[in-house]
Amino acid sequence: MDTDTANPRPRPEATKAGEGELIRFDRVTKSFGGTRVLDELCFSVAPGRKVTLIGPSGSGKTTILRLLMTLVRPDTGSITVDGDSLTHETRGGRLVPAGEKHVREVRKKIGMVFQQFNLFPNMRVLRNITEAPVHVLGLSPDEAEERARELLDLVGLGDKCDAYPSQLSGGQQQRVAIARALAMRPRVLLLDEVTSALDPELVAGVLDLLRDIAHGTDITMLCVTHEMGFARDISDEVMMFDSGRVIEAGPPDKIFTDPDHERTREFLSAVL
Ligand code: ADP
Repeated sequence: MDTDTANPRPRPEATKAGEGELIRFDRVTKSFGGTRVLDELCFSVAPGRKVTLIGPSGSGKTTILRLLMTLVRPDTGSITVDGDSLTHETRGGRLVPAGEKHVREVRKKIGMVFQQFNLFPNMRVLRNITEAPVHVLGLSPDEAEERARELLDLVGLGDKCDAYPSQLSGGQQQRVAIARALAMRPRVLLLDEVTSALDPELVAGVLDLLRDIAHGTDITMLCVTHEMGFARDISDEVMMFDSGRVIEAGPPDKIFTDPDHERTREFLSAVL
């Protein structure tokens, strides 16, 4: 795969103090209606780390991914990605709320795969993948197509370039969505319950592909998943959420076998 994210990487050990941060949430608060979903949330993710967010439904996990994709904006607090703020910019020497142009630039560093694939139904598979690299990154159509073909080979769909999404199984559509996200060469890949909408027999294939990407590349990953086996396999760190706060975080062996919090124990015994 012709992308810097494809370089083999040593598996990182625990985050070291002072190590660079690729993602930083600083006192981020978000309410919908009168309900506070995230409450002064702080966390950071070091480059290359694979981090899984777990916790009960409604605890704010997807909102974190949507904030990173700027599909929603925080009420207060700041979010930084790869040294650039998603929430603020400096204009005329003053720090002001980030404008659309600034946000678009920072967002180029982030790719997201959704539960419902969200492919463009009227475009063939190849075009689904080349569209953003051409129009957002400014790649030539030839370059974008070459990259798209490589990625389709990587996800095992090299023979489906000319198919429409509706001609593919859910698992195949999700593989295309993964290829589409990687085509932008993002620094961060966000995965939002990407197997939840799949028929059970298609889940394992998509998870295997994501395992390969997690273990074989240095891309930073943030995943929301109910697949605890997968979370355990790929994560450097698991963050347990409850009511919009991280109640505990640590390596998967610790969180899944010997969590500190009763709430984590209860959650895991309900889902495992
Ligand atoms: P999780 O991913 O942990 O299940 P979410 O982040 O999806 O949680 O949602 C957290 C809470 O925020 C839920 O109560 C949900 O209904 C609410 N919520 C999320 N997005 C919106 C929205 N766009 N409008 C209104 N409420 C929302």
